Parts: sequence; C-alpha cells; structure tokens
Amino acid sequence: MAQILFPPKVVPLAPIVGSDLLFPIRRIFCVGRNYKAHAAEMGISVDKTQESPMYFMKDASAYVPSGSRIPYPPMTRNLHHEIELVLAIGKAGFELREQDAWESLYGYAVGLDMTRRDLQQYARRNGQPWDTGKNYEQSAVLSSILPQAQCGRIEAARIALSVNGTLRQSANTRDFIWSIPEILADLSRYYHLEPGDLVYTGTPEGVGPVAAGDTLEGSIEGIGTIRLEVTSSP
Ligand code: MN
Repeated sequence: MAQILFPPKVVPLAPIVGSDLLFPIRRIFCVGRNYKAHAAEMGISVDKTQESPMYFMKDASAYVPSGSRIPYPPMTRNLHHEIELVLAIGKAGFELREQDAWESLYGYAVGLDMTRRDLQQYARRNGQPWDTGKNYEQSAVLSSILPQAQCGRIEAARIALSVNGTLRQSANTRDFIWSIPEILADLSRYYHLEPGDLVYTGTPEGVGPVAAGDTLEGSIEGIGTIRLEVTSSP
C-alpha cells in the first residue's frame, strides 16, 4: 500500500467563541477594495455600476491566531495593517442568490490582512500578481469566530484599529461598497464556496505602516477584538 512521504500538515484550526469546537480553515478569500475612502487613499475610484468586487487569496497556512507575536516579515520596508470583518463559511454554496447568502455564513471574526505594501504596489505598477505583497507567511491574522447563531446578521458595526494605543483606522461596515450578500453572491459565481472558507471583506481607510515593537489592537462592535505584536526580525 502506498505510504505518505512525510506527515501532511493539518489544516489550521480557529477557535470558536463559547465552544470547544474548532473551525478548520479551508481557503482564505480577500476582497481587494470595499470602502470608498480606502480605495481613494490607494489612488483608485470604484464605480459599483461598472465594476465587480476584486479578489485575491491567501494560503490557509498564512493563518495566525489573535494574540500572537510575529517577526517583522522579510523583503519589505513597508508592512501595513488592514483591519477587516471576516466571514466564516459554514455551508456549501454556488451561485448563491443574495437573499440566500446569509444562510451560508457560520459566523464572523475580526481579521488583519497584513500587507507588504511596497511589494503589492510594485506588483500593481508592473501588472504582476499580488502574491508576494499579500500572500506570505503569518499574513492572515484572525480572532476567534463568533457564530451568527449568537450575534445575528451583522450589517453595520463600528470597526477600529489602534497601533500602540493610537487610533489609526475607524469606520463602520455599513460603508461597504459591496454588502455581505453581494460579496457572497458574486464570489460564489467564481468558486464553489465550502465550509471552512474565510472571506476577508476589505479594509477601511487609515491603513499605514507597522514597525518592529508595535502592538496592534483592533475591534469590531458586536464581534470581538484582535491583537498582534510585531517583533524584530529573527
Ligand atoms: Mn485587505
């Protein structure tokens, strides 16, 4: 009988609020620009009547639990924070109708889409993929997942991030360009969503650099908090 060459890595498991169960992470989808003011600070204007959401992905192995200390990542001089509402998919869905999208949601979490901005901007300028800027080790920070069964639908919530106690990002998820049902309906035209998939829904304005020694603390009203310490490179 064929044997496995080396032990395969177990998928990352995220804690669930109020439960001993763990949420196995399958894929990590990210929405690229979902707040007008953040798109503007990136030098982009978004016309919803002409455009669809844009997506990129991170490997599930990029997962880092809230409360972690991570080293400043390699090959960047401009690491940025992006606080985001994260959707945790609990039910398979393909070509979802907006009115059915909520049912595919298991719950919500607070996320940080850590970004090597210099690499992302180089890629953008040169028509290259965003992977080195976005999809690298320890770049997908995540809080515990709050089941929708506990908190209900989240359609408007204050979202905020502080660095070393100074408020850097402060907005409300009601200012999404594409709402949660619109994102899930659109994304599920391209992919068969499955339990374990995560969707980072985009960051509001106020993104900025993070230095070694910084402590990041974020929150989303009604969902939870997130914390990350960035240390000197090893
Ligand atoms: Mn982002």
